[in-house]
Amino acid sequence: MAVRRPNPYRVKLHHSYSVPELAACCDVHKNTVRHWQRQGLQPIDKGRPLLFHGGTVRAFLIERNAGRKRPCLPGTLYCLRCREARRPALDMVDYVPLKADSGDLRALCENCEAPMHRRARKADLAKIMPGLAVRFTNALPRLSGRPDASLNCDEEGKG
Ligand SMILES: [Zn+2]
Repeated sequence: MAVRRPNPYRVKLHHSYSVPELAACCDVHKNTVRHWQRQGLQPIDKGRPLLFHGGTVRAFLIERNAGRKRPCLPGTLYCLRCREARRPALDMVDYVPLKADSGDLRALCENCEAPMHRRARKADLAKIMPGLAVRFTNALPRLSGRPDASLNCDEEGKG
């Protein structure tokens, strides 16, 4: 399901909106407006019906959109399990070239060890992963291309 991002500039600055009016203006469900309220969107006062000031709504939506677009900081990849940008475990990052000038950075999350990856341009590697030794690998076959990985583990049993 695509997440629709309301356009903050459809909200008129000097206009007060009730919940249904604001929902219609932003083309969202009324419940979404209530959700925004729980996330910190302040109504004008506690009166009923609730009214929201256009300027407040616009600032709220702009900040919210900016938060979503926040890119990973240098030295991090986005961990889908943590839902946060995380540093690579052991500072180990692999670069798998997919095209001549771009590829996939792969690492394990230092927090939960889930695999993370991030598209990157080869020219940007030093900027994206400063101070990290990015290991270049050949384009890897899919996991099934390493059939002996688990066998080795069994054979190397302790003792
Ligand atoms: Zn994680």
